Amino acid sequence: MGTIVPCCANEAVFVRKFEGRSYCKDHFTESIEKTVKRTIRQNDLIERNDKIAVALSGGKDSSSVLYMLKKFFADRSDLTIFAIAIDEGIHGYRDKTLIDAKNLCDKLGVELHVVSFKEKLGKKLDEIVKQEKLGPCTYCGVFRRYLMNKTAHDLGATKLVTGHNLDDEAQSILMNVLKGDIQRMSRGGPKPHRIEHSKFVLRVKPLIYIPEREVALYAMLNDLPSHYTECPNVGGSVRFDVRDFLNTIEQKQPGTKHTMMGGYENLLPYIDGKVEMNTIKECTECGDPCSQGDICKKCELVKKVID
Ligand code: SF4
Repeated sequence: MGTIVPCCANEAVFVRKFEGRSYCKDHFTESIEKTVKRTIRQNDLIERNDKIAVALSGGKDSSSVLYMLKKFFADRSDLTIFAIAIDEGIHGYRDKTLIDAKNLCDKLGVELHVVSFKEKLGKKLDEIVKQEKLGPCTYCGVFRRYLMNKTAHDLGATKLVTGHNLDDEAQSILMNVLKGDIQRMSRGGPKPHRIEHSKFVLRVKPLIYIPEREVALYAMLNDLPSHYTECPNVGGSVRFDVRDFLNTIEQKQPGTKHTMMGGYENLLPYIDGKVEMNTIKECTECGDPCSQGDICKKCELVKKVID
């Protein structure tokens, strides 16, 4: 490692290797918040009179983003901020993180709406997993996105804020490359280009330039939920392997995730809006927009495992 320059005379809590700088608690918190504020401002993630739904899992990422939004916009009476948590029904995991989500909302004075797979779709993810051969993440991802968007839409949200961090985004970029999915490739970044439809709430990602371990430290230093609780199903997903691969490269070459993100953003203008998209129809079952066949993915999976 080359020379590390300290931010000040106070005790260092973090070394950002690719910058060659160490940070004390206050300067570290300040540097994270500065990046997040810049991301929000430069990409118009929050606009006047927004009704902001924060997708809250009770983990470090979504807890940090909710905390920051409440802190940054404490004086903005035109904005409304509330949280939505999805209970997929994963024993020993989601039940614990939901307690953290509730406690945080109580502490910050934020209204929390909890929506469960069982109540809205008829089965817990644990029950689906027992009967199905497809990996749990296939069902979980589709059903969770559907319920999150629907709840935000029904509550009148104009923005849906997620806690995606730099690691999540770098993993998605690489996964889309591996799958050769150019359509999904064109839908990344802090304010992803999505099919415009009255039923879709615009998703925004203020933490997209902050590496996961820095979000974890920010959460810890600011008394937010920061313990590492991992879903028991995570080992079966491709994302898990991609995550390990990227972490290995980052270890050898600090700053790789940032440069990967920068390269992706340079590429984005060449593909955003230029990739031929499937024709959008309305699902014959639920009326939601769908791009393949007559029924949407959520209804297809519901028919398979619930109906
Ligand atoms: Fe759902 Fe899979 Fe994530 Fe677990 S790892 S929360 S099953 S998507």
